[in-house]
Amino acid sequence: MNKTILITGGGRGIGAACALLAAEQGYRVCINYRSDAAAAAQVVRAIEAQGGAALALQADVVDEAEVERLFAEVDARCGQLDALVNNAGVLARQMRVDQMDAARIRRIMDTNVVGPFLCAREAVRRMSTRHGGSGGAIVNVSSRAAVLGSPNEYVDYAASKAALDTLTIGLSKEVAGEGIRVNGVRPGLIHTTMHADGGEPGRVERLQSSVPMGRGGEPEEVARAVLWLLSEAASYTTGSFIEVSGGR
Ligand code: NAP
Repeated sequence: MNKTILITGGGRGIGAACALLAAEQGYRVCINYRSDAAAAAQVVRAIEAQGGAALALQADVVDEAEVERLFAEVDARCGQLDALVNNAGVLARQMRVDQMDAARIRRIMDTNVVGPFLCAREAVRRMSTRHGGSGGAIVNVSSRAAVLGSPNEYVDYAASKAALDTLTIGLSKEVAGEGIRVNGVRPGLIHTTMHADGGEPGRVERLQSSVPMGRGGEPEEVARAVLWLLSEAASYTTGSFIEVSGGR
């Protein structure tokens, strides 16, 4: 039987690249999205056209009841859950900390920290041998921002990713003896539309000369690291991070 993977924010960008590669590797792919149903449906169609199996599931990861419904739908339609990619994430317009209001900071923390916590909780309840599960793997999509701090752009976003990294470290130790591995990837400047949400669609082009490899990355390059961490090839790797940032 095919393994089942759930990817939050799997309709666009890095999440969509993870979905396509997971399908290529034989996973049955559950693609969560928040509002862009058309993008998620397009990824499902692309997977089905290659002979794979995928479904799109709407849920806002910020909302506890919606997260519970999302995982219940995965249970009902796929049975066992083997892998979770906590990929959904947001940033807001570039600004200094002295300009930020609480509503903005809370929205970033809710999506990038509370959402992954809730999804990880639901995944552990299903995967953990302590709860009768057969194990599994979780990858949290963090950012190089967690280390660099994103001054003058979005320190709130950077701080949310640092919190996500601490979730990766703590949870990996909590469930290491229960058949679950938890790891993170830290992408650098990747070509997706996320930068437009920060108010600068051309951000990767502006900053690429600061990348030792001299270019931005592609979502597929991040997806390969995510899928490796989920695979048996990474069977002794947990609480670990892969930087996918061209050296930046
Ligand atoms: P993106 O193209 O903007 O896509 C974001 C995805 O997240 C979308 O599918 C969106 O759903 C989903 N999403 C957002 N809020 C959600 C919520 N509350 N509930 C469910 N889904 C939600 O972003 P990306 O560039 O691929 O980024 C993916 C991840 O990589 C993020 O965690 C980001 O922080 C991280 N990252 C990106 C970069 C980069 O340079 N692009 C660098 C480092 C880290 P809809 O499609 O329905 O809107």
